[in-house]
Amino acid sequence: MCRVRGYVMAEDPSVEVPAPNEVEPGLWTCAEAALPGAVAGLGITHLISIGYPPPDDPTGGVPNMETLSLTLEDEDDGDLLTQIPNALAFISNGLKQGNVLVHCHAGQSRSVAVATAHLMRSQSVNVDEALTTIKKNNKNAQPNDGFISQLNLWHSMGCRLNMADEAFKMYTMAKMVREREYNGYVEATSVRPDPGAEVGMSSTTPFSGTSASSLAPAQKNGGGTEAGVLISCRKCRRLVARGANALLHEPGEGMDAFSWRKRAKQSTSNTSSEQQCAHIFLEPLAWMKDIEEGPTEGKLCCPKCDVKLGHFNWVGSRCACSAWVAPSFYVQQGKVDVMKHRAG
Ligand SMILES: [Zn+2]
Ligand SMILES: [Zn+2]
Repeated sequence: MCRVRGYVMAEDPSVEVPAPNEVEPGLWTCAEAALPGAVAGLGITHLISIGYPPPDDPTGGVPNMETLSLTLEDEDDGDLLTQIPNALAFISNGLKQGNVLVHCHAGQSRSVAVATAHLMRSQSVNVDEALTTIKKNNKNAQPNDGFISQLNLWHSMGCRLNMADEAFKMYTMAKMVREREYNGYVEATSVRPDPGAEVGMSSTTPFSGTSASSLAPAQKNGGGTEAGVLISCRKCRRLVARGANALLHEPGEGMDAFSWRKRAKQSTSNTSSEQQCAHIFLEPLAWMKDIEEGPTEGKLCCPKCDVKLGHFNWVGSRCACSAWVAPSFYVQQGKVDVMKHRAG
């Protein structure tokens, strides 16, 4: 394929259009105003169009171009993070076949943030190193502070989305709270799948009747990144959550989803405390009725036997250890069994 490096300026010469920036061979970013010239002049085969909303026809009628449209606001709390995997898969695929262009309105924040994520993974570098590389050719490159925090979280998770990562769980909950405030409801796709709906896992195996706490020595409040921890209804044994769905809190210390940036910097320490936790806080899960729309708070009942297991409150609630957790979706320790899963 012939790559044309020449670039056609916009029609009105009095309007200064910043030139597209080559991030690495074959990968470009640009502002929306530079789009027509860039598409025509750079041999672009794959285009990522970012906007709020993205333009209807970003190719300007150029045929046979593959496009990916991303809806993303250039705000600190715009959700870049969960769109990164999709964008990077598109870029990798595009680079194998031709040239890739990522555009946003100004070519400074959103498109640069996506290109930064790509460089972080393709060159195994951190956020600062990737941005330094980009700024060599594009002095205006500056993703907003929220995107920088999200890219740092992405880096701390090994450049992938780790659903069991505590900071990422808080990030997605904060996103849901905003979504609910803005739309009046939460998208069903934001809620995590029901672990009890998986094939073969609808109920947990019976266990010898020792107390639940002795079966879960690892984590006081139900968590554990290992998938082997199962949380099930004490009455009917229906699986309601895995350890990875639990949000660990320090006894006595609050946990606000919007403080995920702080959480991303510190790992959960195992400080001992005299105070007892009464609740296991969970991520919002698909079996929880009425959480997606409707009241701010309500009961959480077992999806199989309907016994009350706990409570949800989008504003937050307090554990017996005095920790304030916001938002809160909890099952009471006494209503569930927490145990390690034995294979077979
Ligand atoms: Zn507690
Ligand atoms: Zn039940």
